[in-house]
Amino acid sequence: MKVFAKNNNIFNLLTEAVSEGIIIVNEEQVIVATNGSANDIFGYKEQELVGQKLNILIPQKYHHNHKNHFEDFGKHSEKRKMGKGRDLYGIRKDGTEFPVEAGLNPFTIYGHNYIMALVIDITERKEKENQIKELNIALEKKIEKRTEELRQTIEELKEEVKLRMEAEAKIKESLKKEQDLNELKTKFLSLVSHEFKTPLSGILTSTTLIGKYTKTEQQEKRDKHLSTIKNKVKFLDNILNDFLSVERLESGKVKYKFTKFPLSKVVNEVVYDANMLLKDGQRIKYPKDIDDHIIDFDEKILELILTNLIRNAVKYSGENTTIDLQAIFENDLLTFHIVDQGIGIPKKEQIYIFKRYFRAENALLDQGTGIGLNIVKSHVENLGGTVTFKSKENYGSTFTVQIPITNNHNQ
Ligand code: ADP
Repeated sequence: MKVFAKNNNIFNLLTEAVSEGIIIVNEEQVIVATNGSANDIFGYKEQELVGQKLNILIPQKYHHNHKNHFEDFGKHSEKRKMGKGRDLYGIRKDGTEFPVEAGLNPFTIYGHNYIMALVIDITERKEKENQIKELNIALEKKIEKRTEELRQTIEELKEEVKLRMEAEAKIKESLKKEQDLNELKTKFLSLVSHEFKTPLSGILTSTTLIGKYTKTEQQEKRDKHLSTIKNKVKFLDNILNDFLSVERLESGKVKYKFTKFPLSKVVNEVVYDANMLLKDGQRIKYPKDIDDHIIDFDEKILELILTNLIRNAVKYSGENTTIDLQAIFENDLLTFHIVDQGIGIPKKEQIYIFKRYFRAENALLDQGTGIGLNIVKSHVENLGGTVTFKSKENYGSTFTVQIPITNNHNQ
């Protein structure tokens, strides 16, 4: 200590110009010298700190730790920065704490060990650091908020895109429906001009001839022509019904009407009508034991389904053949088989047979529109059933319709 008192002037000379605080302590941690900056930093007068324990400059709560660090430092005795990795605090004479940065330099004079601490008040720097930290936190929060907003905007955009795509698909679908309907109408017009021509001229011929059979005994001839007219009108009516059906199916206007009716009623009507179309030697076999079966179904649709299939069987079979209509009840399923011994459907064309307007090559000599089977399939499937077929060219075809049914068997 005396060394520093003795050489006070030299110490002052060397340290006063330095802006860092310089504090020199001996091995007992007693302050032996301070420079003006150190006094200013800690708020003491000149020489006031000399002879004080170093702890006077360290906040109470760090005293214990400081002791350990000091001893530890004494052992290694090398120049280093103090408080590596942790914040250091000093305490002023007025009791206020402030952050410091300190560098330690051990040295020996006349056989005594000292440590010179270089101390800087880093209050301002700390404040700036804190401000930057706060700014960073605020910035991060802002970024988080913006990211969230962006995410939400993207979600909204995605939803919007989805809605637009849905709307577009709907528009496309209705456009397609409209195009289909237009196509249907065009097709209808060309079919009317083609398909209606033959039966209409037949009707015209028959009516002209009827006019010529004026004698009473010519009744048989008149009847024959009347039956021809009836047939041809039925045929035209059938085509018109098919087209109406397609139009209703296309525009989604079909409403099914379920009623309870005896199956025999529909079968009899269908067979009766089809009988008028039979070729020479053709006959229709149908179940006679179904009088007791009352079914709950759309009567008109069942009639349309069976009429189409039986008429096809008649149309696409030759003279002296049998068309067999079978009806089988099994649990809640009603199965019809319509078996013919006709021209059959060529194997390679079988996959197209339910396509609208499709007509197999071997059927082109007979009149037809190619829409009957398509309608049958749509209705049957709409009502939860199935329609399938097996066919061999020149041997015949079997069409099978299965529909779910609540069958009330009359006892
Ligand atoms: P259309 O009979 O008016 O041509 P359909 O839709 O009823 O129309 O039948 C489509 C096609 O299926 C027919 O043109 C014919 O080629 C074939 N077809 C339908 N039923 C039979 C059948 N029983 N025997 C042979 N071919 C058939």
